[in-house]
Amino acid sequence: MAILNILEFPDSRLRTIAKPVAAVDDGIRQLVDDMFETMYEAPGIGLAATQVNVHKRVVVMDLSEDRSEPRVFINPEFEFLTDEMQQYQEGCLSVPGFYENVDRPQRIKIKALDRDGQPYELIAEGLLAVCIQHECDHLNGKLFVDYLSNLKRDRIKKKLEKLHKQNA
Ligand SMILES: [Zn+2]
Repeated sequence: MAILNILEFPDSRLRTIAKPVAAVDDGIRQLVDDMFETMYEAPGIGLAATQVNVHKRVVVMDLSEDRSEPRVFINPEFEFLTDEMQQYQEGCLSVPGFYENVDRPQRIKIKALDRDGQPYELIAEGLLAVCIQHECDHLNGKLFVDYLSNLKRDRIKKKLEKLHKQNA
């Protein structure tokens, strides 16, 4: 397994729209394993392939405290089951150090393939629903900062650009 490099906002590669996975083969399973290792090491609770500069529709997630509930979403698609919104303070490994409130529908139905390429469906609410929507946004080139005001987003952008310059 390998720790992958995580792209950080405002890197334009995070705006790439990921392509569907044609076949869940050993290469995809290797990617999934590397993404889990990268996510756990960060540490984070979710990671989309876009964030490690692989533009395929693959998401990994683990919301448990003890890394006991790894979830894999390949070619995920979801629909909203309610108009009711919930607000969570979101963060992102690609926007390190910033946490902001975002409103999203609180209940969704998701269809995806698992690590073996088997299709499954899941009804999600609460943090899981938020996390799935956040990660699926990545696959479409979207970030949680896009939901914020221009002012807030620009402030985050400037701070991260400054940090990237210092670290370069
Ligand atoms: Zn994210």
